[in-house]
Amino acid sequence: MSETTVGENIKFLDSDVPEFSTDAAARAVRELYGIEGAFSRLYSERDQNFRVRAADGAEYVFKIANIDEDPGVLDLQHQALAHVEAVDPDLPVPRVIRTREGAMSGSIDDAGGKAHIVRLLSFMPGIDLAEVPMTPKVLRALGATTARLDKALRSFFHPSANHVLLWDLKRLPELRHNTDVIEDPDRRRKIEAAIDHFTGHVLPRLGDLRWQVIHNDAHATNVLVAEDDPERIAGIIDYGDMIHAPLINDVAIAAAGMAEYADDPVSAICDVAVGFDGVTPLEAEEVDLIYDLVVARVASEILICTWRIVHPTGPVESLVDFVARFWPAFDKILTAGRETVRARLRGALKFPPYCPRPGEVDPAEADAVLDEMLERRRGLLGQKLYLFYDRPLHMVRGEGVWLYDATGRAYLDAYNNVPHVGHSHPHVLRSITRQYAALCTSTRYVYGNIIDYAERLAATFSDRPRVCVFVNSGSEATDISWRMAQMHSGKSGAIIIEKAYHGGTGAIDAFSPTDRPAGEIPAHIRTIVTPDTYRGAFRGDDAAARYAADTDRAIAELDEAGYGVAAVMIDASFVNHGIIDVPAGYLKLVVEKVRAAGGVFIADEVQSGFGRMGSHMWGCQAHGVEAEILALGKPIGNGLALGAIVTTPEILASFTERTGYFSTFGGNPVACAAGGAVLDVIEDEQLLANAVETGEYLRQGLRALAQRHPMIGDVRGTGMIAGVELVRDRATQEPAKQETKRVINAMKEKGVLLGREGYLGNVLKIRPPMVFTPENADFLIAALDDAVSAI
Ligand code: PMP
Repeated sequence: MSETTVGENIKFLDSDVPEFSTDAAARAVRELYGIEGAFSRLYSERDQNFRVRAADGAEYVFKIANIDEDPGVLDLQHQALAHVEAVDPDLPVPRVIRTREGAMSGSIDDAGGKAHIVRLLSFMPGIDLAEVPMTPKVLRALGATTARLDKALRSFFHPSANHVLLWDLKRLPELRHNTDVIEDPDRRRKIEAAIDHFTGHVLPRLGDLRWQVIHNDAHATNVLVAEDDPERIAGIIDYGDMIHAPLINDVAIAAAGMAEYADDPVSAICDVAVGFDGVTPLEAEEVDLIYDLVVARVASEILICTWRIVHPTGPVESLVDFVARFWPAFDKILTAGRETVRARLRGALKFPPYCPRPGEVDPAEADAVLDEMLERRRGLLGQKLYLFYDRPLHMVRGEGVWLYDATGRAYLDAYNNVPHVGHSHPHVLRSITRQYAALCTSTRYVYGNIIDYAERLAATFSDRPRVCVFVNSGSEATDISWRMAQMHSGKSGAIIIEKAYHGGTGAIDAFSPTDRPAGEIPAHIRTIVTPDTYRGAFRGDDAAARYAADTDRAIAELDEAGYGVAAVMIDASFVNHGIIDVPAGYLKLVVEKVRAAGGVFIADEVQSGFGRMGSHMWGCQAHGVEAEILALGKPIGNGLALGAIVTTPEILASFTERTGYFSTFGGNPVACAAGGAVLDVIEDEQLLANAVETGEYLRQGLRALAQRHPMIGDVRGTGMIAGVELVRDRATQEPAKQETKRVINAMKEKGVLLGREGYLGNVLKIRPPMVFTPENADFLIAALDDAVSAI
């Protein structure tokens, strides 16, 4: 007997393989099972195996266990096979043949009188996968079959499932002090480095993955393909290494086994993973460990086989062949490297790019990647598709109020209002994916969640009954709102505030004269003066009436030109105007004038809706006005394309009587799931109250800054929006446009994302996700203090 103890009680070799004569084996099979047949020997690492061809043509494998084999472990294997047979009877795995007495195993004594446990399994016909071309199809089929096998084992448990096993990857560190069997120092260092990385960085991450009893040994000579179809898996054999382990180990072990035979190991690894994922979807944390687990598996194979070659107990030719095959595969995988394999796996499995931890990626490399992406982007999306910042940001992940770039750097997102309840909110994520998994269709069919969602939106109004039309963007919402207003009023003119932005459709482009000279605005649109109490002409108590008076002029002009006034469209948060503080009562006055002239109020709630202004769900309500039509967008689906028009039944009737309006995607079940989830989070996390409190806290902090920085000319906003106007001179209010740009770039360098806004381009736009906290506000203010000081 030859054995070496490594670590606690883990052995490189069991006792020598049992040596029974064929006659003794045949006698045992006859006595125990009542089966007669022709016997031939099969290779095994630690048991003695015979292939049995019975007289009736049936074939079996008779296994005589090593004397060292723990009976509990053998029972684990039998019970597992019986369990798999019961759960997934079509899986191509061997069946345990019962003895004449109905037992799963029997025993025979060797010459020394020691009892060896024996069992009889059905023989699986087929060709070793190692002997056929490793096509993507067969590799995926292997991944899928392994996944099915593990799925059938999910509900399996056995007291011996965590036995001590040399081939248990989590025990790899215990083999570390045996690397001296590898003579070549470079090669030895590679194996040591693999073990050290596994010990330091992989083992600690296995704890919170999915664990269960797994097969643990689907290498190319344990997998059979059909004789008539070498791309069909006909069997997975050898259950001797079953162990309780991370599920992902089985993907890595099968992938490693295939990589050793495939011309392109990385593609082989991806194919096995894709096949597995098709049956049991993998988790990102699991996928990101596959490379390291494959490396660990091949390293352990090399080390264990080399040890056995150096300490032989019998013929070593096959071991020498194995090791000669393992090394080139190991080198190829190492040469491809962790990042490449991870990226290939993530691409193949449709996971977005990996978000590194800070320090994991060389910034120069990340810069080079960004340059290359910018080049391709310009070529494919056009030169002018605008990007924020002098040096644009390559984002890979968002969570809550944080965005992470491709180097893993976190940025406090104080700019984006679309992720209203926070980036990648888990409740929204689950709602969307679960709905998509069940159904995604159009309003041509009846489904429940569009009705529930419309009901919830309608319930946010107390003035009168409300109805909804669902679209896919803010622009579509304002566009349809405008069509409704025209059809309902029978008029064709509109009033907007100068320099407004309401979207980009053909019709609404006319409502968005942000950067357009006044002369280019079509005649059916009239602009009224911006009610700006910081810069505008009227700043006193009568400012509301004086600004609103401009509406009379616009109405008169539209009437005179023959259009009449169908609607006034206003964003009640005035974000695009520089988050101006408008005089109290202004909006109400304007709307009253328009109504008196036969028009309606379209509240563009794309910026101001869903509690952004804190005190009310809708921006118009915060001004004490209930709009006839509300156009909803941006935050409504937390990033999922969704828009809505909420209006009165009468206005909707005027519209639908004259149009057969239908939007293919508008209001689809997934969009409605997102919308409903956003409403849930707004309620559950009390985000309106947070907007009031944290928004005010933020503005107080900003005002305190303004006391020390003369460049801060004004601080304003309502709820979770703040505008900071930068000036070169407080007395002249000369706009600090260039300085504003520099502050925004400097803030980015300090890890805070802000926007630039206002008709003079000198207002810092602070409009974070609604889950922004006072601590986030403190972080922003400290950074802004530094950034403004340095300008
Ligand atoms: N209205 C307002 C007030 C907006 O700010 C925007 C977008 N900036 C829109 C409408 C258009 O929305 P979308 O980009 O979803 O079409």
